[in-house]
Amino acid sequence: MAALDIVRIPVLSDNYVWLVHDPVSEATMVVDPAVAEPVLEAAAARGWTITDIWNTHWHPDHTGGNAAIKEATGCKVTGPAAEFARIPTLDVQVKGGDTVRLGNHVADVWDVPAHTAGHIAYHFAGDAAIFVGDTMFAMGCGRLFEGTAEQMFANMQKLGTLDDATRVYCAHEYTLSNARFAVTVEPDNAALAERLAAVESARAAGEATVPTSIGEERATNPFLRAPSAAELGRIRALKDAA
Ligand code: ZN
Ligand code: FE
Repeated sequence: MAALDIVRIPVLSDNYVWLVHDPVSEATMVVDPAVAEPVLEAAAARGWTITDIWNTHWHPDHTGGNAAIKEATGCKVTGPAAEFARIPTLDVQVKGGDTVRLGNHVADVWDVPAHTAGHIAYHFAGDAAIFVGDTMFAMGCGRLFEGTAEQMFANMQKLGTLDDATRVYCAHEYTLSNARFAVTVEPDNAALAERLAAVESARAAGEATVPTSIGEERATNPFLRAPSAAELGRIRALKDAA
C-alpha cells in the first residue's frame, strides 16, 4: 500500500487544512476546509481532484469551504452525525467506531467530545496518522466550548494509547503560544524547554510546527500529561485566562 501524500495548506490567520491523496486510487480528501479557493488551488497544482471532505466538527473555520468545494468538484462530505444539524453540507454521517476509507487506507472514527459536543477524529492506524481537528494541538488541547474537562481528559488518555511515531495533524498553528504556557506549568521539564527554543526559532523563520507526534506530545504536552481531569481542567482554565 503506497503511502498517503499529505499536504499542509495554511489558511486564515492560523488554520491548517490537510489535503490527503492516495496515489493508488487517486482519491483526494481534504480535512476541515476552512475556505475553498486555496484548497482547490493546492489540489489543482498537483493534478489532483478532490473526491472527499472529512470534517471533525461544525465550527466555521473547519467547514466554511465545504459548499464551494462540493460545488466545484462534486465531492462527498463526511462528518460527525451528532453535528449534522450544524453542517448542512454533510452527505455521510459517522460516529465513533465507524470506519471511513480513502482508497485502500482505512481510518477509524473516534468520538472526542469536549471542544464541541460531537467532535470526531480520524485515525489511519495503518498510516500512523491521526487527524484531530481542535482536540489536541502541539503542547496544547482545544478549548472546552461544549464539553467538560472529564471528556477532554478521556480524549487525551485515548490519544496516549497511540504509538510515539503516530503523526498528529491538528488544525491550528498554536504551538508557540502553547509552548510558552506549557513551560509555566512544567518549569522543570527539560524536553519542554528544549522544544520551546526550537519552536521559537522555527516560527521566527516562518516555518510551520505541525504535524506533531504522539511521542513529542507525551514528553511535552501538559494536557496529555495531566494526571487527572481536575488538573487538566485547572490548567485549561489558566490558559483561557492567559
Ligand atoms: Zn473549533
Ligand atoms: Fe478551529
